[in-house]
Order: sequence, then structure tokens, then C-alpha cells
Amino acid sequence: MRRKIVAGNWKMNLNSQEARQLASEVVNMVKDEVRNGVEVLLFPPFVHLSQVGQLVVERKNIFCGAQNCSALPSGAYTGEISASMIESVGAKFVLIGHSERRQYFNETNEVLAQKVLRAFENNLSPVFCCGELKEEREKGKHFETVSRQIEEGLFHIKSSDFSRVVIAYEPVWAIGTGLTASPAQAQEMHLFIRNLLSKKYGSLAGEISILYGGSCNEQNAAELFSLPDIDGGLIGGASLKSRSFVNIIKSMA
Ligand code: PEP
Repeated sequence: MRRKIVAGNWKMNLNSQEARQLASEVVNMVKDEVRNGVEVLLFPPFVHLSQVGQLVVERKNIFCGAQNCSALPSGAYTGEISASMIESVGAKFVLIGHSERRQYFNETNEVLAQKVLRAFENNLSPVFCCGELKEEREKGKHFETVSRQIEEGLFHIKSSDFSRVVIAYEPVWAIGTGLTASPAQAQEMHLFIRNLLSKKYGSLAGEISILYGGSCNEQNAAELFSLPDIDGGLIGGASLKSRSFVNIIKSMA
């Protein structure tokens, strides 16, 4: 079923106490104020996943996930975190292919395709990120980039699993820059993605939640979320303040 989702990507921020405080505030505010059927996802750094998982365990509309997972199942890979470890601490989701992983850690579509498989093997829903660079948009290559990322990173998934995928369209030039895709640019790309999915997976495409990410905030969220193919948001900076994040969740119609 196509769900409305607002996700917070905390990136490499917050110590243990700060993480506990932010997660508790969000859980309490959502419980008291949010009545719009939105699913809330929190993506803390790995070391906070277990404690944030415990804070959300009783909630029906808040889940936590990891910001990344290894492409390998287990073994002698110092510093890596496997999908099965992530699942074992109560996480239900994993971000795969965030542009910061692609850009700074050279994650290729081929590696990301492996990570997606690891997620499914361990009952985690992948939130698969895609999006073009500024130069690619300027050259009119944004549709080409996004379709390659999706085809190479996701199209090996069988239909029976595909309904568990969430897609986040995040134009790289909008992430952490204060620049946002215009509502028209965002809707155009979301519709393009849904049409691409429907060529491969047919009517299942209508069930997939496609989130927008890139400097989404309290001021611009309501307009973006009102568009027909935008099913929510992946929020970076504005998810680090409970009040801003919850206001974004509330702005989902
Ligand atoms: C992100 O990290 O996925 C993101 C969208 O960041 P920001 O909201 O800060 O642009």
C-alpha cells in the first residue's frame, strides 16, 4: 500500500544523550499531535540505533532504520555493519544509496544493488535514494541519471519483494544547500520515476511511496507534499530539531 512517510536522516550528528532526547521528544510530540496517518522513520547513526529502537518499539507509526549497511552478509570486514545486525536491534528500514555515500564513499550502483539484496534477506525495507548532480540537471541529463540509478540499483528485485521498497528522490544540488527543487521539478521527476517503475513492475508502481529530499523544511513541506506523486519527505537538517521535524510531519495533508 502506498503510505505517507516522513523520514529524518540524522547523518553523523548527535551524541548518545542528544540522540535519546531528540528521539523521545519526537515520539512524544507525534503521540500528542500527529493524527494524519503518516509513518515516521528515524535514521540515527549506527551507535544510537539500539536505544532509539527501544524508544519507538511501542509505537505503531514510528520506526527506526540505519543510514547504511554492508553489501556483504558477515565476516572479516573490520568496521562494517551488516543488515542482519541492524535488524537484530529492532530496525525496520535501511537507507541505501544516499548521495553522500555515492559521492564520498564511491558507492556504485552495483554495490548498492548488493546492499538492497542484503536488506531483503534480513527483513529490512530499503529506502533507496536517487538524484542527479547540478551539472547533470544543467545539461538536461537528470532523467537519464535517475533512471540508471534505479534500473541498476533496484530492478533485480522480484515483484513479490518490490512493494517493500521506498524511493527517495533527492537532487544532489538541493541536499544541505538551502536550495529546493521547485514543486514542478519535483513532481515531474516523481512522475517520471513512477512511470519507470510501472514499465518494470506494472500496477505495483502505484503502491510505492516516493519521498522528496533536499532542503525540505517547515516552510516548503506542505506545498511539496500536496503534489500527486510526492508521498512524503526525507529530511536532513530540519530533522535535528524536534519542533521543526514534527511540524513537517504535520504539514502532510
Ligand atoms: C538528506 O540528507 O537526505 C537531506 C535531504 O538533507 P537536507 O534536508 O539537510 O537537505
